Amino acid sequence: MAKVLQFKKPTPAQKHKGKTLCKSGFHSWQLLKEPVFDSRQGRLVTVFQCKRCGARKVRGISRESD
Ligand SMILES: [Zn+2]
Repeated sequence: MAKVLQFKKPTPAQKHKGKTLCKSGFHSWQLLKEPVFDSRQGRLVTVFQCKRCGARKVRGISRESD
């Protein structure tokens, strides 16, 4: 009897599903790193990256609600 490896790569279909969610605006954001100072904006920002498509978003830290 042959051993069956249980490791599975994500199928293209699964990847596509994720991308579809991303395209619809349902990214799977995770905190990329601690707040950093963005000299361009002149303030601290928090960076998030989507686990699926790698898109990034930067959220400014301020009293204003974004
Ligand atoms: Zn995404």
